[in-house]
Amino acid sequence: MKQIDRTKPVLVTGATGYVAGWLVKKLLEEGLTVHAAVREPENKEKLKFLDEIAQQTDGTIKYFQSDLLKHGSYAAAMEGCELVFHTASPFILGVNDPQRELIDPALIGTRNVLEQACQTVSVKRVVLTSSVAAIYGDNVDLKLTPDGMFTEELWNSTSSLEHGAYMYSKTLAEKEAWKISLDQSQWDLVVINPSLVMGPAINPHGVTSESFSIIKQLADGTLKAGVPDMGWGVVDVRDVAEAHYQAGFVPHANGRYLVSGHNTSFLGMAQVLLPNYGEKYPIPRKIMPKWLLWLLGPILNKALTRKFIARNVGYPWKGDNSKSKRELGVNYRPLNATINEMFQQLVDEGII
Ligand code: NAP
Repeated sequence: MKQIDRTKPVLVTGATGYVAGWLVKKLLEEGLTVHAAVREPENKEKLKFLDEIAQQTDGTIKYFQSDLLKHGSYAAAMEGCELVFHTASPFILGVNDPQRELIDPALIGTRNVLEQACQTVSVKRVVLTSSVAAIYGDNVDLKLTPDGMFTEELWNSTSSLEHGAYMYSKTLAEKEAWKISLDQSQWDLVVINPSLVMGPAINPHGVTSESFSIIKQLADGTLKAGVPDMGWGVVDVRDVAEAHYQAGFVPHANGRYLVSGHNTSFLGMAQVLLPNYGEKYPIPRKIMPKWLLWLLGPILNKALTRKFIARNVGYPWKGDNSKSKRELGVNYRPLNATINEMFQQLVDEGII
């Protein structure tokens, strides 16, 4: 049972990220001091959104230059913190060099941050942003689950450098985190495993997260001919932030938390947009036949390999979020609000 002293600073790695933005907002609203570890503290344009929130709340934000690949670069940011949120890790699907672009920052970064926690006497708890990607590799894996649902008990055993490199990066990183945490007793580890995160961004113009590429594809006609027939879990970015916050401060929080609001699909997301935007935007209305996807997939998107299509298309997705509701009190927003508010933000900001 770890009680966190709220007068001490709290570290957030990757504070300028899409998911981290809402967590930083929540921490500042709670009047906390946030140590924001970022790659470019001199980039005022990138930080202005967080600065504005800090000005409107009782919280304080301080920036620190840190890079996942630089050993020791989280030391200054972690100094005096009892609570560390490690969110930084690239979420990109179409990479050229998966080892360099995904695995290294995820794995070396987790090692750097958690080993730093072992050397920083103040640290009592680390909350790691993992993913459902560390629970399963492909939708077809659902068939192998004991209860027909993905749960915190399961581990992704099918992704590799060649197949599902992002999923693999998250699996390796989370396993490493558990390994480091079990070798010490100073701090405890709590892991958040979100499904696909959607919803408006704190900084919609600077987003690098793949979440935004996905919603943009629903608007720009890329998928007008139809979407892959694929189930997936979706969760609102604000609910993910709340889950992180609770994982940090609820004393009995422990282990992994599958954080997912809805068992839905690509088409399910498109369908909630149709009533509001179907007239003006080429929102997909149907499924693309698997044979056509088989032909076009690898041309449309590097991540849509034939193996990916074979193991994911035509299969549903189902996740068990009951532990997150029971222990962290997460109250998931309706899918309709998440997807429509995200889309409307892109419209308002002239992005689509
Ligand atoms: P994002 O907006 O692209 O955020 C990624 C963050 O990682 C950025 O802040 C980025 O820093 C930081 N980062 C990347 N490489 C780095 C490096 N070498 N050194 C230091 N920082 C580095 O993506 P996101 O969606 O918010 O992802 C945040 C976390 O949530 C990741 O761990 C991701 O795996 C996890 N997650 C995301 C989803 C989702 O659907 N979005 C679902 C499950 C889990 P810069 O700002 O400097 O680029």
